[in-house]
Amino acid sequence: MGSSPLDTIAAISTPPGRGGIGIVRLSGPQAASIAVRLVRLRHPLEDARVRFAEVLDVSEAARIDEAVVTYFVAPHSYTADDLVEIAAHGSPVVLEFLLRRALALGARLAEPGEFTQRAFLAGRLDLTQAEAVRDLIEAQTLTQARQAASQLGGALSHRVAPLKQSLVELIALLEAGIDFGEDDVEIAPRAEIARRIAALTESLGALDATFARGRIVHDGLTLAIVGRPNAGKSSLFNRLVQRERAIVTATPGTTRDTVTERISLDGIPLELVDTAGLREAHEEAEQLGIARSREALADAALVLIVLDATQSINDEERRLIAAMEGRPALIALNKCDLAGLQRDSLVKDETAIGEPARAAESSSGQQGIPSIQTSALTGEGIPELRDRILALASGGTASEPGMLTNLRQHQAVTTSLSALTDAGRANSGDIPHEMILLDLYRGLWALDSLTGQTTSDDILNLIFRTFCIGK
Ligand code: GDP
Repeated sequence: MGSSPLDTIAAISTPPGRGGIGIVRLSGPQAASIAVRLVRLRHPLEDARVRFAEVLDVSEAARIDEAVVTYFVAPHSYTADDLVEIAAHGSPVVLEFLLRRALALGARLAEPGEFTQRAFLAGRLDLTQAEAVRDLIEAQTLTQARQAASQLGGALSHRVAPLKQSLVELIALLEAGIDFGEDDVEIAPRAEIARRIAALTESLGALDATFARGRIVHDGLTLAIVGRPNAGKSSLFNRLVQRERAIVTATPGTTRDTVTERISLDGIPLELVDTAGLREAHEEAEQLGIARSREALADAALVLIVLDATQSINDEERRLIAAMEGRPALIALNKCDLAGLQRDSLVKDETAIGEPARAAESSSGQQGIPSIQTSALTGEGIPELRDRILALASGGTASEPGMLTNLRQHQAVTTSLSALTDAGRANSGDIPHEMILLDLYRGLWALDSLTGQTTSDDILNLIFRTFCIGK
C-alpha cells in the first residue's frame, strides 16, 4: 500500500447503493482543509464537534444536498490522523460527487482497509485488533460479533503480553549468563531455564488449543446431509432451516443438485448442504447431482447420514457408514413415526423394520457414529438432532477470551511453540547458551508477529487488502 503519512486519503465508507445516510471519510493532514472547500459550513470545524453543511455543485451556485460534518483532530481519531466524516444522504450520485471533488482537491483514493492500517501504523491498534475490525464487519452472528469485539478490545493481545514478557525475561537471563560467563556464579542454571521454558510452553500450548474453537466461531462449519433418495434428507434439511427451501417430493432422485442454506446454531454459522441421493444414477443430470453430492461430502466438516427407518439398510448405506469412519458424523434414523406404526402392525416382518436401527447401532458401537431417531414429519428428535450437531460442531470445546481465530495467528503461535521446544531440547542437551538464545529469539519473533510488531510490509498489505474500502 506504501501509504505515506503525508497523504490525505478519502473513500466512501458506507456500503454501495442507496441508503438514508452515506459517509465520505477523509484522513490525513489535509482532511480539514479539503473538507472546508468541499462543503459550505455554517460554523468552523472544531475537534469532536458536529457541523451542519451544504453540498454545492462545482459552480457553487446550486445546492445538491445537506450534510453533517464531524471533525476529529489527530491523534484522537480512528486513524490517529486528522479525520473528517461527511455524512450526506445515501445517494451514490452525491457521494461520488463528493469523493471526486475531494480527489480533485488533493486527496488520494484510499485502498481497502487503509484507514485501519493507518490506525495500526500509528500504534492505536495492534494486528489482532485490526483483524477484529474486519471480523466485526463480516460477522454473521452475534456470537461472532461478540468474539470480534472482545478481540478488538485487546483480549488476545492481553493474553499474549505476559507470555512475551516471560520470554523476554528468560532471554535477558541467558544474555546476562553469557556476559558474565567467566564468573564462578552460574547466573542461569540449566534447571531454572528448563522450568521457565516448560511454563512458557504450557501457556503457549493452551493458547494454541483455543484455535479449535476459535476457528469454528470465526469460519463456521459445513454439514452435508447424505443418504438414499426419499430417506427424508430435504425434509430434515427444512426442519433444521425451518423454512421451506429444498423441494420435497415423494419421487426418488429429484433433489438433483445440492441446496445450501446458512443457519446459526448457537451463534456458530452452519452451512447445510442438502445433497442429491447417492444411488447409482442413469440420467446425466442426476449423475451430475450425485457427483456434486460426493464433492459436498468430501468437503464437509460434519456429515449427517439419513437412513429411512422403514427400509432395510442397503449395501450403499453400509459403505457410506464405513466410509465415514473417523469423521465427525451422525446418523438420523428418519421416519421414526412410521417405523413405530409398522413395527406394531408388521411384527412378523423382522427384516423390513428394525434392521436399519440395529445396523446403525452396531455401526455406532464399532465406528463411533452416534445415531438418533428423527421424524421430519412430526418434528420428533429434531431438538436432539440440533444439540448433537452442535456438540459435534464444537468438538467439546468452549469459547474463552483471547482465542486464536485465524490461520495467521495460529501459525505465529505454533512457530513460537516449536522454537521453544527446540530451546528446551537444546537446554537439556547441554548446548551453549548462545544456541538456546537463537531458538528463544525465534520464538519471540513469532509472538511479535502475532500482534504485528515484526510483520513485513508485504504481509501487512496482504492482510489489510482483505478489508472493505472505506474501513
Ligand atoms: P430426500 O429424497 O431424502 O430428500 O427425501 P424427502 O425429504 O424428499 O422426503 C421423501 C418423502 O418422505 C416425502 O414424501 C416426505 O414427506 C417423506 N418424509 C420425509 N421425512 C419423513 C418422516 O420423518 N416421516 C414420514 N412419515 N415421512 C417423511
